[in-house]
Amino acid sequence: NNMVIAIDGPAGAGKSTIAKIVSNKLDINYIDTGAMYRAITYKAIRDGIDINDEEALIEMAKKTQIDFKDNNIYLDNEIVNEEIRTLSVSGNVSKVAQIKEIREIMVELQRKMGKRYSVIMDGRDIGSYVFKDANLKFYLTAGINERARRRYVELKAKGHKINLDDIVNDIKNRDDIDSKRSFAPLIKADDAVEIDTTSKNIEEVVSDIMEYIK
Ligand code: C5P
Repeated sequence: NNMVIAIDGPAGAGKSTIAKIVSNKLDINYIDTGAMYRAITYKAIRDGIDINDEEALIEMAKKTQIDFKDNNIYLDNEIVNEEIRTLSVSGNVSKVAQIKEIREIMVELQRKMGKRYSVIMDGRDIGSYVFKDANLKFYLTAGINERARRRYVELKAKGHKINLDDIVNDIKNRDDIDSKRSFAPLIKADDAVEIDTTSKNIEEVVSDIMEYIK
């Protein structure tokens, strides 16, 4: 049977960094579900679709193909790893991700992946909604300043022109929308292991998680 490990938590808590490392250790697939919502949002912006026009966004999402291969994200067969990381995508993604019909399309894809192979999947609703029966669930948190700092360092290293205040605002704004939306909001599943990563380095968090796996 396939193994499913869910990693949820607010923006910038270290989910993707940790999930990637654990996926390599276990030799299973890593699926970044945030990248899926980002890809849809990127396509809407690129194609000039009004972010407030839910009907148009749903129609577009229905006709959109999203795939993962070799840790690349494909939007309609084109790699968009970098395009989906801009502040303009970040600033709009939570609005798009609130739309129930769009979530249903993404969740169906995510469940298919978890059926086909073992995965470690990170997001907001993986343990609480997408895979309620996941083998293991983790909920990563960290203080807002630390989360913003990490995101800043990461984006800066990739050459994005950004400042720390914008990152703090982006994270606060997304956490607010993500935790208040009516359908599958950001929430810790009752049976998830909560790990506060504020004063832990990457190795410590990975080894905490590996303790539960072996
Ligand atoms: O993980 P990341 O920060 O890249 O996610 C971007 C956004 O995608 C989140 O702020 C949230 O609005 C949305 N998202 C979601 N459900 C998930 C993953 C991400 O709503 N499972």
